[in-house]
Amino acid sequence: MTERPALFPGTPASALAIFAHPDDPEFVCGGLIANWTDAGARVGYVIMTDGRAGGAGLGDELITPEELVLRREDEQRRAAAHLGVAPEDIVFFREHDGELFHTLELRRRIVREIRRFKPEAAILFDPRRRVMPGYVQHPDHWTSGEAALAAIAPLAGNRLAFPELLAEGLEPHQIRDIYLASPVDPNLRIDIEPQLERKVAAMNEHTSQVADPERTAGFMRDFARMAAAGSRYEFAEAYHFIRFGERFLTLED
Ligand SMILES: [Zn+2]
Repeated sequence: MTERPALFPGTPASALAIFAHPDDPEFVCGGLIANWTDAGARVGYVIMTDGRAGGAGLGDELITPEELVLRREDEQRRAAAHLGVAPEDIVFFREHDGELFHTLELRRRIVREIRRFKPEAAILFDPRRRVMPGYVQHPDHWTSGEAALAAIAPLAGNRLAFPELLAEGLEPHQIRDIYLASPVDPNLRIDIEPQLERKVAAMNEHTSQVADPERTAGFMRDFARMAAAGSRYEFAEAYHFIRFGERFLTLED
């Protein structure tokens, strides 16, 4: 086999971050999103659940689930603004938090957004990641990754899948680059040092989720330092990267 030059994926023209909860994109891939929007990319979000089951930052504050849902959507829009994501490019599915299931309907909804937004790249949870040291991955996380991956391939690009979407005027669209976040086997590190403090500020907009902003900031910096270990970067995010049609990919990070 001939040696191929190492590839650095570069900045896509557009990307969709497809996640389970409001705050997932900031926490998991806020550096990559800001890196891309800084370079002129348009990035949108699909947030599958309504976040009604999370409230670490609420303390004794009394709030109904319905109020929490609206508050979390507002937090999500303000957080995304730090990363260069426009509010009109955020779609909320409002499935109940903690009750996400990989159904045909969920796939259809994701395919619809992919065909509407037509992103060149997508970021989603690695669905293979169920456990990690000292931590059990939230089932909404791997479920969101599993459904998003099925929507990306083979459904969104297949004219014969969901003919009712074609009837809505939504043409097939194949995403070229897939970034699996929180990956089982990372093969790409992205330098996020220039974006790290914006990532932290974005996360801290989720005030209903963050009990102690300083502690969260420290944790996020530590996490980025760990993700960079062994690379030439000080702060990074790690991904498993897939480019369609490139079976023998040598990545440079
Ligand atoms: Zn989450």
